[in-house]
Amino acid sequence: MVYDYDIIIVGGGLAGLTAAIQLSLGQYAVLVIEKKPYPHHKVCGEYVSNEVVPYLESLGVDLNSAGIVHIDTLQMSTHSGNSITTKLPLGGFGISRYTFDNLLYDRAVKAGVEFIFEAVSSINYRDEVFRVHTASKKFTCSIAIGAYGKRSGLDKKLNREFIQQKSPWLGVKCHYEYENFSDNLVALHNFKGGYGGLSKTEDGSVNFCYLANFENFKKFNSIEDFNQHVVAHNPYLNDFLRDANPKFKKPLSIAQISFEKKEAVENHVLMCGDSAGLIHPLCGNGMAMAIHSAKIVSNCITDYFKSSNHDDRIKLEHTYRVLWKKEFERRLRMGRYIQSLLMNDTVSELAFRTIAKSEKMLQLIIKRTHGSPILV
Ligand SMILES: Cc1cc2nc3c(=O)[nH]c(=O)nc-3n(C[C@H](O)[C@H](O)[C@H](O)COP(=O)(O)OP(=O)(O)OC[C@H]3O[C@@H](n4cnc5c(N)ncnc54)[C@H](O)[C@@H]3O)c2cc1C
Repeated sequence: MVYDYDIIIVGGGLAGLTAAIQLSLGQYAVLVIEKKPYPHHKVCGEYVSNEVVPYLESLGVDLNSAGIVHIDTLQMSTHSGNSITTKLPLGGFGISRYTFDNLLYDRAVKAGVEFIFEAVSSINYRDEVFRVHTASKKFTCSIAIGAYGKRSGLDKKLNREFIQQKSPWLGVKCHYEYENFSDNLVALHNFKGGYGGLSKTEDGSVNFCYLANFENFKKFNSIEDFNQHVVAHNPYLNDFLRDANPKFKKPLSIAQISFEKKEAVENHVLMCGDSAGLIHPLCGNGMAMAIHSAKIVSNCITDYFKSSNHDDRIKLEHTYRVLWKKEFERRLRMGRYIQSLLMNDTVSELAFRTIAKSEKMLQLIIKRTHGSPILV
């Protein structure tokens, strides 16, 4: 069988782009189909764990050229304003998704990856062939990677279990001009029914991104109204929203964010990044996990193509499932546990206060929700 491509990657976010670079450097014919041209903003806290640095450097991604901001300190506060500050064991960096995704896109193009900017409408597998369709095009490939993020119409078509359930979370993000914020800080401030992160990006803007319970949110007329009546009850966020100047005409928002369990392989499609599982943003580890899962899937695919028993798809899928679980399941479980505490207003204040009193506990949570630098 002659395929159009060895590998088609559906979705060109961090997971899809990273896998595309590694596989293309391995001399495979790779097509990424992404629905939005670069650069574009995304709802995201924009704090990236340093876990990814050695791996991205090994792929020739020059993070310093993008002007990343180095971050080594975490501040957390309860909605009434009790706060704790601690050093981040591994640290991280601040970069907007506008710049980060575009940086990886440029690297992918140089590495020989082909791109099409259209939404994928279906991925079908039969007799060792994937057929990937957009509204106007059809392609075949030997391996399909699903890297299309948290939620997509494709999940419905693949009849994935998590998509059957409604999710109560809404994400909001905007960049601000704000002088009074340290470069090396990422701050996590709790408010009733949610929490928000503040950190600097490469152009000096402060990114404010929060996650809120949708039931709470819909009692208000607008994001501004919600900010004023709920978010600004936290004294740190009150100071921030009072003095900071928004740089976007309107904040970006996304609803129906799901943290439910997902399968790493669905109808033979190898899921990568958020398509395989999303960790609660409180953990600040989603981007690192997306990038790390790209490495795992790329290594598994390389082994599959190199093996003499070239058609052992069952082994490929099994190995990927096992490696994915081994690396991420514990972190996701911890993230879900923290989320369950935050869903309850009374428990969430108590939980935040307990954490805010104990630097040791905070360090333990950071350890349990983060990985080590990705080995190259
Ligand atoms: C509110 C919030 C705050 C967060 N803050 C942080 C943080 O501070 N630090 C951190 O590490 N993580 C954070 N995360 C998690 C992080 O954003 C994700 O884990 C990360 O973006 C996952 O990357 P990805 O490549 O899997 O998905 P994405 O970056 O979402 O990329 C998916 C891509 O697929 C494309 N796509 C979707 N459907 C189709 C289709 N049908 N056809 C073609 N293309 C398609 C989309 O346009 C998109 O570009 C946060 C998440 C949320 C919700």
